[in-house]
Amino acid sequence: MVAQLNKHTAVVTGAGSGIGRATAQELAADGANVVVADVDAEGGRETVRQIESADGDAIYVEVDVTKEADVEAMVETAVDTYGSLDIAHNNAGIEGTNAPLSEQSIEDWHQVLEVNLTGVWLCMKHELPALTNGDGGTIVNTASIAGLAADGSEPYTASKHGVVGLTKAAAVRHAEDGVRVNAVCPGVVRTPMVERTIEEHPDAVDAMTEDQPLGRMAEPEEIAKTVAWLASDESSFVNGHALPVEGGKLA
Ligand code: NAD
Repeated sequence: MVAQLNKHTAVVTGAGSGIGRATAQELAADGANVVVADVDAEGGRETVRQIESADGDAIYVEVDVTKEADVEAMVETAVDTYGSLDIAHNNAGIEGTNAPLSEQSIEDWHQVLEVNLTGVWLCMKHELPALTNGDGGTIVNTASIAGLAADGSEPYTASKHGVVGLTKAAAVRHAEDGVRVNAVCPGVVRTPMVERTIEEHPDAVDAMTEDQPLGRMAEPEEIAKTVAWLASDESSFVNGHALPVEGGKLA
């Protein structure tokens, strides 16, 4: 727990699993009302159940971040239900194919860019007016170390570099509106996304940890605590930053 977020309202996309679920739980434990947004209703409802069983406050909203009407409704629901929007964690993402570039289809490319990059842009487009309508607020986008260096497929790396660029541009433009915008750049995190890769390629675990100074993957809670810090006033002079949380892999 990094800060008291009582009376704050947070939207977390991709909150039905992995990093998003851990962040929704962390923000709720810090006192925020949380809008759990995910295309996966079962996962989203389970996150709400877990938050409520820990005495937190959350609601589930079914959202496909590539659909503007869904994203608009997500922000409206946050404001209508809790009276404001103060924190947005734009985190929904997909890994896409890991096939060599020459074997990737145009559909593979579009799908990864749509969810990982256009989705973050669409969310910020509709969150910013709600954030600036109140006392300002914070946005934390989930990029990746693939937003800072090559890691994974070309579409994935390109999408995450795009998230870092979007974050910086929005941070500079909206600072005067009282909104800080940062990105978190995780290394390998033990989530269903990574478990899917390990299931397909069991020897991938060694590759994921062999050049890792700490000798292990991160747990989703370790990313969630960083997001909660970036979202809180405790990071009040951190803006336009892409913060690696990768155990020193890029050092
Ligand atoms: P995950 O697969 O466990 O969770 C992703 C969630 O996003 C799922 O609940 C899924 O339903 C949701 N989602 C997917 N497409 C969506 C859409 N169109 N609209 C709404 N929700 C959608 O994955 P994770 O590992 O928790 O990944 C979360 C974010 O972290 C992603 O942006 C991912 O790229 C990024 N990331 C993950 C790692 C890692 O090692 N796990 C590392 C760096 C960055």
